[in-house]
Amino acid sequence: MARRTVFVPYQPKTVLNKGKRADHWFWSRYSAYPYIGCQHACLFCYCREKHYCPFDDPNDFGYIVKVKENAPELLRKALSRLPIDVVITGDYQPAEKKFQISRRMLEVCLELGFPVSVLERSALVLRDLDLLKEINQRAPSVVFFSMISAPDSPAYERVREMENLAPRMEKRYAAMEQIARAGILTGSSMMPILPGLCDTDENLEATIRCTANHGGQFVLAGGLTLADQQRDYFFGVLHDRFPDLLPLYERMYPAGSYGAVRSGDPHATGRRVRELCRQYGISDRMPRPIIPGDKRALNKRVVEALANQCYWQELDNAPGQRVWAYRKAAWAIEDLEQDVGLIYRQMGRKGLEGIENVGPRLAEVVERLIQNPT
Ligand code: SF4
Repeated sequence: MARRTVFVPYQPKTVLNKGKRADHWFWSRYSAYPYIGCQHACLFCYCREKHYCPFDDPNDFGYIVKVKENAPELLRKALSRLPIDVVITGDYQPAEKKFQISRRMLEVCLELGFPVSVLERSALVLRDLDLLKEINQRAPSVVFFSMISAPDSPAYERVREMENLAPRMEKRYAAMEQIARAGILTGSSMMPILPGLCDTDENLEATIRCTANHGGQFVLAGGLTLADQQRDYFFGVLHDRFPDLLPLYERMYPAGSYGAVRSGDPHATGRRVRELCRQYGISDRMPRPIIPGDKRALNKRVVEALANQCYWQELDNAPGQRVWAYRKAAWAIEDLEQDVGLIYRQMGRKGLEGIENVGPRLAEVVERLIQNPT
């Protein structure tokens, strides 16, 4: 018999996590979620890790949902004191039909003028398309979908089994199309690319093609991580339901590892994703949502370009030192109070060299980006 979900309403003291600066993957600086526990219960879910999972039995993560009743009020209080930046929020698992807390959190973001980023494995997000459109008109936002396969991939059936109780991919791709038609930036988060299932060329291409065909503008690629009780849980799943995959995972995820340990090139899949994205006219990076008229728009565009370079250099196995130099320069420009364009107009390249962590070589790069912002 199917296990019933238990809802546990409670009143947390805080709901907002605040980063020092926007992260270079999703461009969000803040995150706030309405629930802990997820009824989609994907078998590979990283949220079963001890760090994220409040339950002793990792299997409970899919069947007990802690409901943050006061999340919208906490969010309003926290955001009203903070500079405007992207808030990653919303959770459209079935609990949302009953509690509607994601919707109320979006209302807070609209009221205070914050852009949102919503990452979903459910088409239920379309219920709030009216609100998302309004938010997007005021502050460019992004609604994207967790997509690790596509209906015409040979891996489709097995990935569906791995996604357990999540809604069918077809519904999510159709939702992506509607989001795109509404003029909201959308795409796929291809995470985790499950070894032996999702990393085949056929599956990568099917997912990227399907995303592009449904109005998605990007596909972000990321690998599977396994830790503590989540690792034990997932190895149990492989043993019982995917025994043919078990030897591969035992090799790639020895005890104590977190990411995959690969014998070959660790970035081959990322490079293939980049190549396929280019072939289908989309990006392997999420375009950064920037509010028109933002006084630091140029800084943000420069940071976006540096972060993209940083990622692509990593994929191309560039020396770690160079990658870090780009990353640190991106952080420094993100933290700048002044407009980087003004610094350049007033002081030229010397002015750029004076920015912390931007030496002569990177000043040249930044100069080119200022002259040709994308
Ligand atoms: S949708 Fe799946 S992967 Fe995402 S939080 Fe829920 S169970 Fe985890």
